[in-house]
Amino acid sequence: MQNIVELFQERVREGVHNKRPLRIRGGGTKDWYGQRLDGDVLDTREYAGIVDYEPTELVITARCGTPLADIEAALAERGQMLAFEPPHFGSRATLGGAIAAGLSGPRRANSGAVRDFVLGCTLLDGKGDVLRFGGQVMKNVAGYDVSRLLAGSLGTLGLLLDVSVKVLPRAPREATLVFDGVAEVEALRNLNEWAGQPLPVSASCWHDGVLALRLSGANAAVDAAIRSLGGDVMPDCSRFWADLREQRHGFFEGDMPLLRLSVPSTVGAIVLGRAQLIEWGGAQRWLRAPGDAATAERIRATVRAAGGHATLFRGGDKSVGVFQPLAPAVARIHERLKTGFDPAGIFNPGRMY
Ligand SMILES: Cc1cc2nc3c(=O)[nH]c(=O)nc-3n(C[C@H](O)[C@H](O)[C@H](O)COP(=O)(O)OP(=O)(O)OC[C@H]3O[C@@H](n4cnc5c(N)ncnc54)[C@H](O)[C@@H]3O)c2cc1C
Repeated sequence: MQNIVELFQERVREGVHNKRPLRIRGGGTKDWYGQRLDGDVLDTREYAGIVDYEPTELVITARCGTPLADIEAALAERGQMLAFEPPHFGSRATLGGAIAAGLSGPRRANSGAVRDFVLGCTLLDGKGDVLRFGGQVMKNVAGYDVSRLLAGSLGTLGLLLDVSVKVLPRAPREATLVFDGVAEVEALRNLNEWAGQPLPVSASCWHDGVLALRLSGANAAVDAAIRSLGGDVMPDCSRFWADLREQRHGFFEGDMPLLRLSVPSTVGAIVLGRAQLIEWGGAQRWLRAPGDAATAERIRATVRAAGGHATLFRGGDKSVGVFQPLAPAVARIHERLKTGFDPAGIFNPGRMY
């Protein structure tokens, strides 16, 4: 494995020397995500394998090219899970890609996001140096938390070589309640009310009048919640949430561009004249809309006024900017970080900014 790291280092130094950028790529399952792809592919897949897994310590450390499915299988054997439920978007998804993409699944609103679970990492920077940040313990709070910064950096700051991630035990019981004929406004009101109560809610989804609520926890807690909330219990619910996470739910079918709206969960219905699917207790709203620049701008302005931001998640005219433009001061911080880690601009140019 040391040889592979040395090879990666050589590629980086060659890239800097020849002024040829590199495009970090795992399984390429998220190639459609972000601004644009540029540079010679640096494939991470050979650098794979679980380095260390201590179920009693609730930490797993693995190399970036390790398939996400392998990580999840190892954890499942010990009754544990990645609580941020990363979407795979294809069978070849890797751990490095999942952390770099920074996407979280249905449990995010209740358990936390990808970055909340990253404890440490080894990074290959834009000079070809191997840097270690953070550690393998949950109490590690020393210093500037660079490893968390890398979650969602889309490979623009460096190549994640290995990552230590905090894992959690699976709940002994999981059940999903379905409420039919619930209007959007009512669904949002209910979700916000439930969020303020001691209920073992672990995910929610509203679309087209149907509200689904997942409960995870001790048997007694889930039973009590079912009794107090009512609704119908969905059979075989794990499939439903996996399909939602992987965007195989019927809402995601077809080629109409997909926008991801991130707003405070308490924001009421955002009327955009388009079908929406609402997750994360109201904080994440998916919208299908024509992908032209004018429509995207209009939606972005509405969402900004509601205190959130909109990402052109799939499809559409990327010239409008996939990610919401950053405030000038924040953009300057991003630029300085990029220059600090990758002075020659060798990694994933243009993927994010
Ligand atoms: C033994 C083995 C054999 C395999 N065989 C195959 C095969 O035959 N065919 C196949 O297609 N796949 C194969 N895979 C799986 C494949 O390598 C991974 O699924 C793939 O790397 C997943 O990446 P991704 O789709 O999650 O993210 P990607 O879409 O590749 O990346 C998402 C984003 O993260 C960035 N990124 C990715 N990795 C890093 C990183 N380490 N550091 C910083 N940024 C990063 C990317 O640049 C991009 O911006 C194999 C894996 C192993 C371990």
